[in-house]
Parts: sequence; C-alpha cells; structure tokens
Amino acid sequence: MRFGNANLFALCPPYHYICTMSIAKNTEALLASLPAGVTLVAVSKTHPAEAVIEAYGAGQRDFGENRPQEMAAKQAALFALPTPPDDIRWHQIGHLQTNKVRLIVPFVAMIHSVDSARLAAEISRRAVEAGRVIDVLLEIRIAREESKEGWVLDELLEWLDGGEWHSLTGVRFRGVMGVASFTDDESVVRAEFERLAAMYASLRERFFGVDFDTLSMGMSDDYHLALESGSNMVRIGSLIFGRRQ
Ligand SMILES: *Cc1c(COP(=O)(O)O)cnc(C)c1O
Repeated sequence: MRFGNANLFALCPPYHYICTMSIAKNTEALLASLPAGVTLVAVSKTHPAEAVIEAYGAGQRDFGENRPQEMAAKQAALFALPTPPDDIRWHQIGHLQTNKVRLIVPFVAMIHSVDSARLAAEISRRAVEAGRVIDVLLEIRIAREESKEGWVLDELLEWLDGGEWHSLTGVRFRGVMGVASFTDDESVVRAEFERLAAMYASLRERFFGVDFDTLSMGMSDDYHLALESGSNMVRIGSLIFGRRQ
C-alpha cells in the first residue's frame, strides 16, 4: 500500500503544531513554483519526523539534514511506521565529520558537504563496505565570511589534478554545493552564485563529464537568485517548515 494522505494525517495528534496542514501547503506551493529540472531538498533539520511526514504527503521526496545523528534518528523513526515511506531520499547538507560517516552510509542518497580528501576517502571506504555507491557533491567556499566549510578552489584543483579521487569507487561525484554570504546585498549573493556556477561548469568539463550534473545552491532567503544563476537543486527549510527554534 502506498503511504498516502489518509493514514498520514491519522498519525497526527489533534492540534499538534505541525498538523495545521501548513507544511503540506508550503510544500505544494514550492513544488509547483520551481522550474522543471530543479530538485527541491526540504531541509527538515530540528523539525520532528511528523513534519517530514506532512511534507511527504504533499509529494516531497528529498529531505536534507545537517546532523548525521538527527538524520539517522528520523530515518529510523519513519522506518518504524506501519507503512514506512520507502522512497525518501536523504541528503546530508551540513558539515560531516569522518567519524560520523558510518551513521548515514547505509541509507543516505546524497552527501552535499564533501570538503576534504579525507572525508571523500572515508565515505568511499564505508560505502564499498556497505556495497553501495554514494552520490556526493563537492562543497566549495564562496561566501566572503570567514567560514571554515568548503574547499578553497585552489586546493580542490590540486587534489583533483593529483588524480587519486579516481580510485574512490564508493562515491560518484555529482556536482558542487555552496552557501552564499548572509547579507541583504543581493549583488554580493548573486556574484557568489555566478562564481559557483562557473566553477561547476569548468569542473564538469575538465574532470567529471556528464554525470556531474548537480548545482546545489539556494536557501529560503536566496533561492530566487540561485535559480537565476543556474541552480538545479535548492535546499529550503524555513519556507516549508517555519522558523527553527
Ligand atoms: C539550514 C540549511 C539550509 C536551509 O536553510 P533555510 O534558510 O531554512 O532555507 C540550506 N542549506 C544548508 C547548508 C543549511 O545548513
């Protein structure tokens, strides 16, 4: 039996805050408004498994989490339902420590935050052990703030030129991810997205080819700008689930 709306809302206790249908409405509206070919990753971090269920009922299938522990717990909670949703694709979007990789390797669909050779190697090793090939994105530092996350382009190029990444048979390099500066200045954000889009195109041409097809950029406040710069995967939390605590 499919996991449809009928038994979905039966799981919601009356007057529970997330059972107002607003998550479903927000999801439907976003899905309808995005251009064809753009994947919506619903960022459910800090929100309970019930919130994921509500978005799922509205047709959402890709969900993003920052913390591997939280993703694994939500995945397990949903799996324990009488009719578990069996086609959710989980995306690790936040920084990933190598010692946490094992928590998500059995089920994660895509890891957006590959920002070091060591992390790529660990994901690949664990994936091979698990008999999987995991889709990954290279996170590139584009924001002007002193953020510690993401590759600096020169270091990424040096690593790719070295060629060892070819031996990482447990991962499939699918594209890049970036987070723009947190600022009201649209011209800054737009310039950062355009820079990431250019890097994506050049990495695809120089190293990876057609399988390298994912440009993950854009969040609730800046996804319109990201789409204008060619994003084909947006990661949206607040607009769907409301403000985080
Ligand atoms: C939290 C988060 C998002 C979603 O942020 P919203 O502003 O709630 O849409 C997207 N990407 C990353 C990497 C995040 O950490």
